[in-house]
Amino acid sequence: MARYTGPVCRLCRREGTKLFLKGDRCTSGKCALDRRSAAPGQHGAANKKVREYGMQLREKQKTRRYYGVLERQFVNYFEEADRKEGMTGENLICLLERRLDNVVYRMGFASSHKEARQLVLHGHFTVNGKKVNIPSFIVKAGDEIAVKESSRSSAKFKDLAEAAATHTAPKWLDVKADAFCAKVVSLPAREDVDFDFNEQLIVELYSK
Ligand code: SF4
Repeated sequence: MARYTGPVCRLCRREGTKLFLKGDRCTSGKCALDRRSAAPGQHGAANKKVREYGMQLREKQKTRRYYGVLERQFVNYFEEADRKEGMTGENLICLLERRLDNVVYRMGFASSHKEARQLVLHGHFTVNGKKVNIPSFIVKAGDEIAVKESSRSSAKFKDLAEAAATHTAPKWLDVKADAFCAKVVSLPAREDVDFDFNEQLIVELYSK
């Protein structure tokens, strides 16, 4: 399945919540969802009854779209989360949080997951000193994520470091924006993820 390249605000309208896919625009008065909250399409505004399956499906799509993950990849994450000890739904969210593109976003070096993904793909980041250009790379506790030495002097990264310095990172990341780096001090816990997911619905969907 190809990556979605259409208008991303439609995705927020479809899920009925802000997915923060457009960076600074999402927190400005220009957010499309603030102006038009009905689902896209001819019958988007119709008051449809949502059944159990529909709710589970929407929750899965919301989570997948928030992290910018394709369906097949998402199923793989779910299967991995299911194999781990503990609650599958919580494991799933924590696994998605550990993706390198999400870490760059949480560090404050990108205003959206999409931008973070681009920066990683273009090889601007290292993990423990080695260049990693795979957005789905999963970080571990103790890993050090940094902007590649040669990228730091660019005007773009100077601006990004300034933005990161004013950003509040989650407590599992120790970010030193002026040094262009961060350390994963612990693995993220479910309560560290400040977004309204109902992961139990996803577990129910895949358990059918
Ligand atoms: Fe979603 Fe951002 Fe578009 Fe608002 S501006 S609808 S949060 S992508």
